[in-house]
Amino acid sequence: MELSAYAKINLTLDILRKREDGYHDLQMVMQTVTLADALTVEPVEGREGAMASDLRYLPADGRNLAQMAAAAFRNAVGEGPQVDITIQKHIPVCAGLAGGSADAAAVLKAMNQLAGAGLAVRELAAIGEKVGSDVPYCVLGGTALAEGRGERLTPLPPLPNCHVVLCKPPFPISTPQLFAKVNVRKIVCRPDTPGVLAALEAGDLAGVARRLYNVFEDVLEPRRKSEIDAVKAVLIDCGALGASMSGSGPTVFGLFDDLDAAQAAYDRLKESYQQVFLCETLN
Ligand code: ATP
Repeated sequence: MELSAYAKINLTLDILRKREDGYHDLQMVMQTVTLADALTVEPVEGREGAMASDLRYLPADGRNLAQMAAAAFRNAVGEGPQVDITIQKHIPVCAGLAGGSADAAAVLKAMNQLAGAGLAVRELAAIGEKVGSDVPYCVLGGTALAEGRGERLTPLPPLPNCHVVLCKPPFPISTPQLFAKVNVRKIVCRPDTPGVLAALEAGDLAGVARRLYNVFEDVLEPRRKSEIDAVKAVLIDCGALGASMSGSGPTVFGLFDDLDAAQAAYDRLKESYQQVFLCETLN
């Protein structure tokens, strides 16, 4: 089976509170984009499935999220084939685009078909929750509100289709370290989530785009923050309707209603950055 595993962007990311179990309650409006990894999932008999990807540093010893998804499916359903999984990565790794979770979600869908299990999307998402907190959203896809750790999902009216330019600056951001820096009581600016939901309801792309907001941007180290801001400035200067960081970063994206403007932003960012992508929203 050949599948595409699509990346997500965060139209909003808010942190509501720190829970007693140490996790944070989040509120995020998520959107699938057409930037995707290419997967093959092939049943094998008489041996354990193997894992291969074109990025040698990705785990292939059972800890790859794609392999974990196959194992979680077999555990949950009590049957299902061993599979060889091959991944061609196009989604940058550790980028805030949920690349690993997207691969896991694609494998869950493949396993569902290969085993003829006929599980509904909600059931697959529940299995995905055991693999990672972004996996349930990646199973559902489209435009959705994700709450809790990301597993409580509400489908939303689709974001009107638009062009998306993504740029990943070449520095890593540690998600646990970023969470550790957040003091929920000291968050001053938050996304206008009700405003985003109303704009989605009205099919108002510009209304969504001007409300993009990610609270993680406010706890970045100053030199990282200025680089993120510089990328956003290029996107806006080229005509983006709005720009923001996705997830725990460092990828920055801009939404465009005009392809020429998006292409111009892509070309300008490509002069300074290696990992720049021009894609579209997917609903
Ligand atoms: P998120 O937006 O959900 O925080 P991310 O985009 O920041 O995710 P990923 O690209 O999903 O991060 O990778 C996070 C970690 O998962 C990396 O350390 C990577 O080695 C590991 N990993 C395991 N399986 C995969 C996979 N199939 N693709 C990418 N990373 C994987």
